[in-house]
Amino acid sequence: MMNLLRKLRRGPSCSEILEILQSYLDGEVDAVDARKVAAHLADCTECDRESQIYRKIKSSLAGRRMHVDPEILAALRQFGQKVMAERSD
Ligand SMILES: [Zn+2]
Repeated sequence: MMNLLRKLRRGPSCSEILEILQSYLDGEVDAVDARKVAAHLADCTECDRESQIYRKIKSSLAGRRMHVDPEILAALRQFGQKVMAERSD
């Protein structure tokens, strides 16, 4: 059902967004891609959650605490697997 909604909707899919999400958060994408990602994140709870996970990882790596919360890693892995499963059909 979600896949159908995504097909009807204009714009990139979640897996496309996730591919460039890290670059986006690092400020390494161009203005067109940045706008696409921002629009998608505003519209998609799951990708928005994913972007928050990346942010947490980045800030915990940047801070004194080098250890990444295992809960965050588990959530990230789970989400990645889900996206890969959706892509492989
Ligand atoms: Zn999404």
